[in-house]
Amino acid sequence: MDSTQFDSFLRGDRISLADSKSTSLEYAQHLDSIDPLRRFRDEFLIPSKSDLKDPHPEAKPVLEQNDASDPCIYLCGNSLGLQPRRTRTLLNEELSIWATRGVTGHFNHPQSMPWVSASETVSVSMAKIVGALPSEVAVMGSLTENIHLLLASFYKPSGSRTKIVIEGKAFPSDHYAVESQISWHGLDPAKHLVCIHPKAGDGEYTISTAHILRTIDEHHDTAALLFLSGVQYYTGQAFDIKTITAHAQARGITVGWDFAHAVGNIPLELHEWGIDFAAWCTYKYLSSGPGGMAGIFVHDKHAAGGRHRLAGWWGHNPESRFKMDNNFVPTPGAAGYQVSNPSIMSLTALRASLSVFTETSMSSLRTKSVHLTNYLEHLLQTTFSSPTTPSPFKIITPGDPQQRGAQLSLLFGEGLMLPVYELLHSQGIVVDERKPNVIRVAPLPMYNTFEECWRFVQALKSALESVGEPKETEIKVYVAIV
Ligand SMILES: *Cc1c(COP(=O)(O)O)cnc(C)c1O
Repeated sequence: MDSTQFDSFLRGDRISLADSKSTSLEYAQHLDSIDPLRRFRDEFLIPSKSDLKDPHPEAKPVLEQNDASDPCIYLCGNSLGLQPRRTRTLLNEELSIWATRGVTGHFNHPQSMPWVSASETVSVSMAKIVGALPSEVAVMGSLTENIHLLLASFYKPSGSRTKIVIEGKAFPSDHYAVESQISWHGLDPAKHLVCIHPKAGDGEYTISTAHILRTIDEHHDTAALLFLSGVQYYTGQAFDIKTITAHAQARGITVGWDFAHAVGNIPLELHEWGIDFAAWCTYKYLSSGPGGMAGIFVHDKHAAGGRHRLAGWWGHNPESRFKMDNNFVPTPGAAGYQVSNPSIMSLTALRASLSVFTETSMSSLRTKSVHLTNYLEHLLQTTFSSPTTPSPFKIITPGDPQQRGAQLSLLFGEGLMLPVYELLHSQGIVVDERKPNVIRVAPLPMYNTFEECWRFVQALKSALESVGEPKETEIKVYVAIV
């Protein structure tokens, strides 16, 4: 191994993609050999290609496979992160404790993880990942539920300040949550919900910071709340969280963020940036398992003062929680927003995955992530653009690494996306499709390799070639879809 290259990789110098060798398989393997995080791949369970075969009896793979026992190429950790090996071990431990100790496990736990305070322990590791103080983070419930709980506390329409500003293409669940909160207050979403859409000239899909700031200015004295996503789920655009937050707060607007696609993906400094509150799920980049336990952030500036909230006993100060005197005293900070006692199974799965994250840092992960995504983009550009034939897809994710995380979103021409997606899937390549025309590809620094990016691009090339042959396409697509 060349140690200069190794150091340069670690420093985050742009990897050399200039010469023609950069598109070779050998170059991909070379980059893997100098990747300081490569040991983490072994911490995860990667489904094999045959594991992913459609169980439907008539669904035959389109292409013959002689490599069925090989690991699949999983570029979908932005949607559901892979399972850490240690998850099963820790879950089994908790099952045994439950089996042998019953209710006493709440206080008497052989791994020093008594259930009664387990969520506090896990929130300490969570806080590190989002750049927050331990008191500012709680792990609890699930994302959309938590958005409702936080809006109940932080969306207080009064006087002329009644509006909520969101993205026009916010994730549907966020849109529904916000819209229903407005109605819940007896207001009409048609008048009180402001949706920011991309502006002509700025790019058809992405939203510039300037446009967001202008929209804030337009509603500076009528907006009660700004609620955006840190990384946009469809385009993969990362917003300038710090600038946008400061701009809106300077105009008296409360600022909340959804970090579903940002947490574990891009470095966050939630305390430093002074945002009011945030919510996120942990089953995407953070690998806590399907429907895993979510996280919230409430800035310490809101810790004291007993803000109005929808309360439950788990938000009650633990020192007097069990006095059962029906006198609600919230725990200061984010923990005071907990409602119910946490699911120990979900919490344990999150604890397992966060313990892998705490063996490295968001800054090391980000360094590798920028290399991986730049490399994937480079291969897509060099493989599919020629002066004579236009590329069959457009990358709608910003090209600037500062404005994106791991994910690239490929927008296909009409009718192309689903057949291409099906062909990729039949070859053991897991990406995800978002209707109408986007395939999202996310190489995660925790477990993906440069070689996988290379193999994905080769498979995409052959999928596009076979979809491009009209007669065969009909047959193949049919086979793939049944
Ligand atoms: C994934 C995601 C959700 C999912 O919400 P759940 O409550 O976990 O089902 C919501 N919002 C955004 C922005 C997401 O990316």
